[in-house]
Amino acid sequence: MRRLFHVALRIGIDLGGTKIEGIVLESGREVTRLRVPTPRDDYEATLAAIGSLVSELEARVQGMATVGVGIPGTISPSTGFVKNANSVWLIGRPLVDDLSSRLGRPVRIANDANCFAISEATDGAAAGAAVVFGVIIGTGTGGGIVVRGAPLVGANAIAGEWGHNPLPWPGADDEPAPECYCGKRGCIETYLSGPALAADHMRRAGSTEPVPQIIVRAANGDSDAVQTVDRYLSRAARALAAVINTLDPDVIVVGGGLSNIDVIYERVPRLWDRWIFSAGVGEVARTRLVRARHGDSSGVRGAAWLWPDA
Ligand SMILES: [Zn+2]
Repeated sequence: MRRLFHVALRIGIDLGGTKIEGIVLESGREVTRLRVPTPRDDYEATLAAIGSLVSELEARVQGMATVGVGIPGTISPSTGFVKNANSVWLIGRPLVDDLSSRLGRPVRIANDANCFAISEATDGAAAGAAVVFGVIIGTGTGGGIVVRGAPLVGANAIAGEWGHNPLPWPGADDEPAPECYCGKRGCIETYLSGPALAADHMRRAGSTEPVPQIIVRAANGDSDAVQTVDRYLSRAARALAAVINTLDPDVIVVGGGLSNIDVIYERVPRLWDRWIFSAGVGEVARTRLVRARHGDSSGVRGAAWLWPDA
C-alpha cells in the first residue's frame, strides 16, 4: 500500500566498529530496525552495506526517508574527510560525498556522541533543555553538546570531547596519573571509563573484578569497594564541575555502561558544588544530572534527528 499522505520518515544509522544499525522514525516514533555486521577494513563494502540497509528499511516502510549517520569519529571541517575514527578504514575518506551520491540525496553525518546528545535533547531525558551536555561513559568517555536542539560541532569538530582533558584538581589519591592511549597522562578517560574504574580498584584493593561486581559490593558496605566508588564519584564530580564552569549546561545526560550506576545521580551533584565557581556560597548549582532515556538506542535515534525539520 502506498502512502497517501505525507509523514516524516527519518532513517538513522549508527556505523559502529562491529555492527551497522539502522532505524526508521515515523513522526518521531521507531517503526522498524535492522542490524548488519560492519565490513571491517573495507571502505567500499561499508558504503555498499549502508546502501543496502537504507534500501531495505525504505522497502519496509514504503517511502523515502532522510538519512543521518553517526560515526565513531568526525568529519574534518577543513577537508570534509573522516578523522579521529577508531574504525581506521574510514579515516581520510569523503564519507559524506560518497554516501550522498550512492543514496541520491544529501546525507548528514555526525560523531556518535553528538548523536547521543541530540537524541536525548530532542525527545529523551534532556528534552526541552536549552543547553545539553551528553556524555557516554563506557569503554571510553565521549561527549557531545546540543544548544537549542542543534548540535554544537565546533571549529575543529571536537566540541564536547572532554575525555582527553586532564582530571581537574588532582589530589594524592589520583597519583600516579595513568597513561592514556592518546599519548598523554592523567586524561579524564583514564579515571572515569569502565576499564579505568576496574584498574583503579585493582591498584588499590589488589583484586580484579568487573565493574558491576564492585558496585554491588560497595552497596553492601565492603570497605575496599566503598573507597573505590568514593574515589570514582569525586573524580566524576570534578570532571563535570569543569564542564559546568565552561559550558554551564542546563542538563548533563549520561549514557553508556556506567550510566547504570545509580549513586552517580544522587551523589555527584552533592559533590560538584564544591568545585563549581559561585556555588557553595549558599547557592546550589541548578544543572541537572540525569540518566539517558533511550539507552543504547540513542545513537541511531540521534542520527535520525540530524534532520529535525524533515
Ligand atoms: Zn587521553
